[in-house]
Amino acid sequence: MNIHEHQAKAVLKEFGVPVPRGFAAFTVDEAVKGAEALGGPVWVVKAQIHAGGRGKGGGVKVVKSIDAVREEATRMLGMTLVTHQTGPAGRLVRRLYVEEGAAIARELYLSLLVDRVTSRVSVVASTEGGMDIEEVAAHTPEKIMAFSIDPATGVFPHHARTLAASLGLTGAAAKQIQTLLPSLYKAFVERDMEMLEINPLIVTADDQLRVLDAKISFDSNALYRQPEMRELRDMTEEDEKEIEASKYDLSYITLDGEIGCMVNGAGLAMATMDIIKLYGAEPANFLDVGGGASKEKVTAAFKIITSDPAVKGILVNIFGGIMRCDIIAEGVVAAVKEVGLKVPLVVRLEGTNVALGKQIINESGLNVIAANDLSDAAEKIVKAVRAGN
Ligand code: GDP
Ligand code: MN
Repeated sequence: MNIHEHQAKAVLKEFGVPVPRGFAAFTVDEAVKGAEALGGPVWVVKAQIHAGGRGKGGGVKVVKSIDAVREEATRMLGMTLVTHQTGPAGRLVRRLYVEEGAAIARELYLSLLVDRVTSRVSVVASTEGGMDIEEVAAHTPEKIMAFSIDPATGVFPHHARTLAASLGLTGAAAKQIQTLLPSLYKAFVERDMEMLEINPLIVTADDQLRVLDAKISFDSNALYRQPEMRELRDMTEEDEKEIEASKYDLSYITLDGEIGCMVNGAGLAMATMDIIKLYGAEPANFLDVGGGASKEKVTAAFKIITSDPAVKGILVNIFGGIMRCDIIAEGVVAAVKEVGLKVPLVVRLEGTNVALGKQIINESGLNVIAANDLSDAAEKIVKAVRAGN
């Protein structure tokens, strides 16, 4: 689960992390009144969307008067902000964050994330702050340093000294990183974060460290024990199909391709996506209906897939182990009866009750293309989609 920058800064502030003073605003009026209360001479008006790269897209403006705050707030609220992270469709800006402007001497990059390889929290840092870290990693990987923290011992002073040295921090800033790093680590662990990215972490003109931008994502599996963090969820920033899927406890992620997939088991789902690509097409989604899915769950899953206009064909690939093929077949038939079927559908069933499953589909009168195995299924759906285009 992701949260907005202003929420992330509030979370970090509770752990003593230095963030500029600021406030969230949902209307131009709130932005102006808040800016007056905050005091100048410099303000930063920032569009709040769950995506980075806002600066380049016109979603971050440094201004020097209340009139300019009003102007930028008017421009940004309601605008569709397109950044390299939003995709071409962009995101509607519904809220702003206005904060005091900082005099920046240096922009650095600092992030904490769960490293699955070491099963630890990794710290990643770079002198190239304010840039896209993926770009830095691709072109100048030597400018990125990383180390991991042993969960049994936590942060040691040497970790912060290493960080200070590689970021070229001296004086007050070098001293401040000694408290900043343990605070960030504490916040990360106590709030069950998956990723905490500060880009940029700045050194101000008077040598102070400040968190100028913050992005947090929480481990969704731990949200049950983070009720306060759960409250920060902004559904308007999430994919409607993914929200609907989460109601039915389906593992669903929207992707960019044209072939909708309904599969059971994450491994099989990934193999299915791979083989679709192998045959020259792209999956429209990742969907794992899970082990013991009910007919209702399967119906819901199928409806979510068919509701996506990007889907030009559907591939149902089920290996019935715990999941029974007849349940899947019933779910598919029920969903098609309810919402119709405008695109080709290839079904490959294997495993428990496969004969019954095939019978249900055959007797349903649906226009289904039957497939025998995984590659046969992928080949058939790609072909059918090509023929339809
Ligand atoms: P992002 O583009 O979505 O990552 O948004 P950021 O919050 O990182 O802001 C983008 C850039 O705007 C930063 O890298 C800074 O260069 C600039 N910026 C943000 N806040 C300030 C500020 O208070 N003062 C100055 N001078 N520049 C700022
Ligand atoms: Mn940023």
